[in-house]
Amino acid sequence: MIAGYQAKSAWADPAFEPLASETLKSGEKVDLAIVGGGILGLSSALHAARRGLSVRVLDAAQVGDRASGLNGGQVIPGLKYDPDWLLQHFGEKRGEAVVRFSSSLADVVFDLIAREKLAVPHQRTGWIQAAHSEAAVRSAEERAKQWKTRGVSAKFLSAAEVARLTGAHGYLGGWLDPRGGAIQPLAYTRELARLAIDAGSLIAENTQVASVKRESGAWVLETADGKSVNAKGVIIATNAYADGLIPGLARTLLPLHSFQIATAPLSNDLLSTILPQGQVVSDSRRIVIYFRKGPDGRMLLGGRGSMAEPTEPKAWAHLEHALKRLYPALAGVPIEKRWYGRVALTFDHLPHVHEPEPGLLVAAGCQGRGVGLMSGLGPRLVDYFVTKDPELVPFPLTPIRPIPFHAFRNVGIGAAIAWYRLVDMLER
Ligand SMILES: Cc1cc2nc3c(=O)[nH]c(=O)nc-3n(C[C@H](O)[C@H](O)[C@H](O)COP(=O)(O)OP(=O)(O)OC[C@H]3O[C@@H](n4cnc5c(N)ncnc54)[C@H](O)[C@@H]3O)c2cc1C
Repeated sequence: MIAGYQAKSAWADPAFEPLASETLKSGEKVDLAIVGGGILGLSSALHAARRGLSVRVLDAAQVGDRASGLNGGQVIPGLKYDPDWLLQHFGEKRGEAVVRFSSSLADVVFDLIAREKLAVPHQRTGWIQAAHSEAAVRSAEERAKQWKTRGVSAKFLSAAEVARLTGAHGYLGGWLDPRGGAIQPLAYTRELARLAIDAGSLIAENTQVASVKRESGAWVLETADGKSVNAKGVIIATNAYADGLIPGLARTLLPLHSFQIATAPLSNDLLSTILPQGQVVSDSRRIVIYFRKGPDGRMLLGGRGSMAEPTEPKAWAHLEHALKRLYPALAGVPIEKRWYGRVALTFDHLPHVHEPEPGLLVAAGCQGRGVGLMSGLGPRLVDYFVTKDPELVPFPLTPIRPIPFHAFRNVGIGAAIAWYRLVDMLER
């Protein structure tokens, strides 16, 4: 189990029952091996097992210990880009497939929770993107308009409407996407694992994969503790935690830390003034601030954090400052929980899917929106693995292309974050 600040998330109480995970036995043979037991690995495992494949999932940590169990639990449909941009970028046919796929992602999550009666606290009350500048207000208007023409009852919000729906100070407008909502992310990830196991998948926790090689027509995965598994196909679902397993993969990603804080439980009086209809919010800043109400009546707020591993509460001070700016009434409320996890950005802000060799599939790069995205993408990767029909994967299969000067990313990202924070602050 992880220790320190990663283990102190607001989602971890009360502790979850252990999963019926199964230690790897050396020499196992399966149809599909999956490296990574987050939302991507587990949604792939569930779908593959239900399609009749034998499946082995291997995770270096425990299920839910990484991004999938630590995130803000905001279910956000759509990608960073608007539908019209996606059509222009990908062309009519692929673009339409990407827009349709991205539009379905909140349905994927909430339908699964309802259909399978998952023990996951959730609320489908919509996602608000709050605008911090006049330019962002214009984008919000355009974004709401584009989704409206596609049949979504998206709503542009004035400054007064954002203030009424959020109780937050200082936003100039925004838009409401009714498809979105909130889940308890650790419960969701653990329930996905339980479903995958019930469907027949085997999950080994605390099992790091050290190498993936093609030998005599099969894939052989060796673990750090010297065991191996043979598979007809492999899905690499390591996302922001990618190490050197697949050459070049980690260098295609900019891994950032996202930090979060949770207040002590709030009084009913305070709770009634904050997000009274239960929406979740991300704002339009380059260095995004996101917030929602969480378990036990706590207020949760997150945003980018330092690249260094945080060791003291002051590493979260910028988030406490942001919380007080948005909600001055929370100034005296203690912060009881601080935690962080890793998100993967790509250079083009789009998710990447690779197939470096036939039967070896890799997907990564959620730009902090992986709850819906990875829930939807896993089944598509499995369908492609079974049918070999590339049309089933919404995104094009691209070569692994490392970002130039990746070795200097920490210096670059640190400087960029400081610069963008300044621009966000000055902009109106
Ligand atoms: C603090 C935070 C807040 C976020 N908020 C939101 C939000 O509100 N909404 C949203 O949509 N998204 C959010 N995200 C992003 C979202 O959590 C991720 O995009 C999503 O969980 C990625 O899922 P995944 O399965 O691809 O990766 P992960 O959940 O990161 O899983 C990858 C797994 O791979 C394993 N692994 C890595 N290397 C190896 C190896 N060699 N061998 C075996 N196992 C290995 C790791 O142990 C890990 O469990 C947030 C992320 C963070 C960190």
